[in-house]
Amino acid sequence: MTENSIRRMSLKSFTSERSAEELHTLIDTVPDAMVISDEDANIVAFSTGSEQMFGYCEADVVGESVYLLMQSPDREGHDWCIDRSKKTGEARVVGTDRVTTARHRDGSTFPIRLSIGVLDFGEQRGFVAYIRDLTESHQTERELHKLQSELAHVSRISSMGSLATSLAHELNQPLTAVANYAHSARDLLSDPTPETIELVREALDECAAEALRAGQIVHRLRDFIKRGETERQIASLRRIIQEASALALMNGDGKGVDFETEIDREADEVIVDPVQIQQVMHNLIRNALEAMLESRHRQLRVRTQKTSDGFAMVSVMDSGPGLDQTVAERLFHPFNGTKQNGMGIGLSICHSIVQSHNGKIWAEPSALGGTAFHFTVPLAETGNDE
Ligand code: ADP
Repeated sequence: MTENSIRRMSLKSFTSERSAEELHTLIDTVPDAMVISDEDANIVAFSTGSEQMFGYCEADVVGESVYLLMQSPDREGHDWCIDRSKKTGEARVVGTDRVTTARHRDGSTFPIRLSIGVLDFGEQRGFVAYIRDLTESHQTERELHKLQSELAHVSRISSMGSLATSLAHELNQPLTAVANYAHSARDLLSDPTPETIELVREALDECAAEALRAGQIVHRLRDFIKRGETERQIASLRRIIQEASALALMNGDGKGVDFETEIDREADEVIVDPVQIQQVMHNLIRNALEAMLESRHRQLRVRTQKTSDGFAMVSVMDSGPGLDQTVAERLFHPFNGTKQNGMGIGLSICHSIVQSHNGKIWAEPSALGGTAFHFTVPLAETGNDE
């Protein structure tokens, strides 16, 4: 069977042979990927742009489900909305345009912009998806600009820069005092008399007081971060995860990573500040990807589950080397980390955000061999945010 006859057969179920041919010629001119499916989400046409984007030939995928091309949450079907549109006669996602992730033939995951429309051929209906690959960084920058600015990524980095400078400045004074008192105490002990011992006692008292002062400065900073404006609303956890994943995978960082998401539909509607929870997801996914840079097998799983006490639990699991022992002891403390170019503040920010949502965050060894981070946020139905 030639390639062309496959095209004709598939689109022919919708329209005449000649129109099918013409329609295919038309979709092949679209620079982005264009995929046409029937009402049951089975692929009937796959444009040349799609072949390039996904690595499949049209002959491989015609008749297959569109979920072959998608990441797990979409695979489960809520996004293509075939089921719902069949029952209700309307396609909920039609016309919506959103950022999510897709799966290449080689198993890697990449960020996309997806929009879906209805094709109405009288008796027969189908869906047409326009897909733009957001992997290339200059393209990504433009396409993800809105998301990125929402996440205030850049401004966070720059405000963290100035925050770090003033923090270093403020902490420097008590820390220098601690060092001076400790040196004096040591010198005084070289000639231990009752008077010098008394002086040593005073020096140590001062030392302790200065150390407490340093602690208060750090506390003030935490309060400041906690006080940050939060805008609670009912949001879809699945959508938050999709957008954060797409952001974290930009610049092709998902290449070679087996990335799966497993979404519990029961744990979807949460009451959160979506931007902040995206920030948490983004930090955890980036950390997992960075931890696996040297790993031979790179597996990343994101899973959501409903807990018995009315929360949604999100897990980010990797197959990296696991946590460094010294980092693990102070995991959610600021300025704690192993990365040369990292400030070691990502997890402490995640901790503050999750706590301010009345949730918990913790880490443990992952079944995939690396680390699993879990955090909880209140489900909308239970009012746990109070
Ligand atoms: P940074 O902002 O520098 O990324 P984080 O607070 O996010 O710092 O992370 C602190 C440290 O925790 C990292 O330097 C790393 O040592 C460790 N870490 C975080 N996530 C993981 C992970 N998934 N696997 C192994 N180590 C991790």
